[in-house]
Amino acid sequence: MKKYNKKRDFYKTSEPKGKKKKSRKDNLFVIQKHDASKLHYDFRIEIEGVLKSWAIPKKPQKKKGAKNLAILTEDHPMDYANFEGEIPEGEYGAGTVKIWDKGTYKNLRTKKFGESRDAKMKTCYQQGKIEIWLDGDKLKGAYALVRTKYNKGTSKGKKWLFIKTDDKKVQED
Ligand code: MN
Repeated sequence: MKKYNKKRDFYKTSEPKGKKKKSRKDNLFVIQKHDASKLHYDFRIEIEGVLKSWAIPKKPQKKKGAKNLAILTEDHPMDYANFEGEIPEGEYGAGTVKIWDKGTYKNLRTKKFGESRDAKMKTCYQQGKIEIWLDGDKLKGAYALVRTKYNKGTSKGKKWLFIKTDDKKVQED
């Protein structure tokens, strides 16, 4: 979250200041359409009181098997899930942010891990293999986020794939 705060001047941008905060019910996900220098979709999921975040250059797909590049970005505060508006010129990520989809998600990799939902998701994240069921307005069903093997130099660990997986083949491993 330090990285998040460092990149922003909160006197200039109306984005929320970074602090940890857990949602009380189900884990949240949000996708924000961000019309910055390059249009992209920011995909964020709640893990341990923060929003783990990826920038997806293309519109997230609903078709089974569809894959999109997803670039891991800095953690965002939970309050960011409600943020819509204009990030001023000259500020980090300048441009318009609109909520494209929002809802809750469930971890589909449940059997392997302990009871705490956060511990499970944190492990999945660290392993670079996230399989979740999204319950949003636009996106409903099984999706995966998988860290790619070919991550070298400055992009180390940041290249992931956002994949629409088969709703019927949901299995707990
Ligand atoms: Mn963005």
